[in-house]
Amino acid sequence: MCMRLARVEVNDQVWLARIEDDKAVLLLQESSHPGADAIREAIAANVDLGLIGQLVDLADVKLLAPVRNPSKVLAIGLNYADHARETRAEVPSAPLIFAKAPSSIVGPGDPIRFRDRDSTEVDYEAELAVVISARVSGSTPNPLRHVLGFTVCNDVSARDAQFGDVQWVRGKSFDTFCPLGPWITTTDEIHDCQALDISCSIGREQLQDSNTNEMIFGVAELIAYIARFMTLEPGYVIATGTPAGVGFTRTPPRFLRDGETVTCRIEGIGEL
Ligand code: MG
Repeated sequence: MCMRLARVEVNDQVWLARIEDDKAVLLLQESSHPGADAIREAIAANVDLGLIGQLVDLADVKLLAPVRNPSKVLAIGLNYADHARETRAEVPSAPLIFAKAPSSIVGPGDPIRFRDRDSTEVDYEAELAVVISARVSGSTPNPLRHVLGFTVCNDVSARDAQFGDVQWVRGKSFDTFCPLGPWITTTDEIHDCQALDISCSIGREQLQDSNTNEMIFGVAELIAYIARFMTLEPGYVIATGTPAGVGFTRTPPRFLRDGETVTCRIEGIGEL
């Protein structure tokens, strides 16, 4: 299975779609109940994701976040060597796991919203996000076998809230602070997830430009480590950390301003 899977909205209905060039192939209509998620439903029903469906022009659909309401979104702090250097932080001896509230997920193109009274230091973080395909618990000999694919995450972070609290969860979980998309590129389309260019820009100003080979703990190691402590289920998202170039480490700091467009890109996946 080698494809790009998206959740798309067409005529007020949500579908799981396979993206092929400039077309969306509609595969499965998402149930209307609030906890529904087309990808999880397809996995549970063992839907053949390669099947033939109605063809729609990509220009006529709205791309949504490729996962909806997962019960966990985990993220990893200080997981790029270049980012650890710029923050002058010690390289962690084990993955530093934190949670983002699933309610912070929004789709590609959706606005990131915040009020000045809640934060004046809203920062961007381009990240490779892993989407889990099957339950993982305890020790696992081949962690990557439980990965459906990869998407792009912007781990938006209110630095004043993040560093004002002992725990990071508030600063990382404002509503809209977890843009995901544009789709999930399945694992077999990614030859090596530890060799992908990753970048972030605001307008034409490029601020992050690195490669997933800078990760301190690779994707397989992260999944194996997390599964020791908590069961991972289909549809869960793990944001694997951000490279150097984030706003708060710059002189002067570079935070998001009203009306700007922030774009995160990962080679082989696409642009969020
Ligand atoms: Mg991050």
